[in-house]
Amino acid sequence: ERARLTRLRHTPAVTLDGERVELHANIELPADAAGAIESGATGVGLFRSEFLFMNRGGELPSEEEQFIAYKAAVEAMRGMPVTIRTVDVGADKPLDRMSASELRHEHVLNPAMGLRAIRWSLAEPSMFRQQLRAIYRASAFGKVRLLIPMVAHLGEVRQILESVKKVQQQLTDAGQAFTKVDLGVMVEIPAAAVMLPLILRHVDFVSVGTNDLIQYTLAIDRADEAVAHLYDPWHPAVLQLLSRSIAESVAAGKSVSVCGEMAGDPVFTDLLLAMGLRSFSMHPSQIPSVKQRILRADAARLARVLPQVLASEDPQREAQAVFASHKVTH
Ligand code: PEP
Ligand code: MG
Repeated sequence: ERARLTRLRHTPAVTLDGERVELHANIELPADAAGAIESGATGVGLFRSEFLFMNRGGELPSEEEQFIAYKAAVEAMRGMPVTIRTVDVGADKPLDRMSASELRHEHVLNPAMGLRAIRWSLAEPSMFRQQLRAIYRASAFGKVRLLIPMVAHLGEVRQILESVKKVQQQLTDAGQAFTKVDLGVMVEIPAAAVMLPLILRHVDFVSVGTNDLIQYTLAIDRADEAVAHLYDPWHPAVLQLLSRSIAESVAAGKSVSVCGEMAGDPVFTDLLLAMGLRSFSMHPSQIPSVKQRILRADAARLARVLPQVLASEDPQREAQAVFASHKVTH
């Protein structure tokens, strides 16, 4: 079993019909990069930087502290891409002691719809630029990609681009080294999915956060047990937003990945391949089982039956039927 897993780790994720798939890791701290390599990840698709900000009594990490952490992750990945997401605090990930704006945030009724993620970053511009500088400085040590959570407005994209420009100028003036950093946004609010072609004009890549996309599409709190039975990745509305987001990104020539739980659950591997997804990001422990599904999949045949799944009133059952009948068995 151990030998089989080691062999699998070094086997590229390629479908039966020759489609190469990137399997990236979701990490929370630089130390997780070792596990990512161990599992055969070909990059980090989501570094949840908020874990550097949490459980420290509300004191924010300095630019230097962040730079050291990002650089450590980048160096551990040895030239493979590392996608660093700017801080996504609020809602299910609160800081212990809030800064001025977070204090207001604590008392709101719907934290998931409040001042979280990029909204908080844009409300705290110096904190945001500090994080951007740390991320850009880490780019001198490997391949860094910058990912922004919870984008819903083109105005936010413009403000992000402005901040990036300002930070690049500051670093140049200070003689700090950095290289090209691709900019991506997360598609996790339905508005972003619906208007994706407009967003795609301004960014280099997108990453679909299905955890929040499902929560906001179905109006189901992802942490509320009372409605957990209604949290349904197979909901036709979710599948349409997901499938359109992937297709539109591919059509625009931009790279697209899914980094929510769906990407790491082998139950959804065929579905995501059928939608045209060629980059998955997940907890490192899920990589072997998703890879095994990819090695047995025929992507072109899956894509041909996808319309049947998307048109069905019971997509889960339809997928089981049509994908299984196209399965090649060894
Ligand atoms: C998501 O929403 O799917 C996601 C990957 O982000 P997080 O789970 O950190 O909110
Ligand atoms: Mg999210």
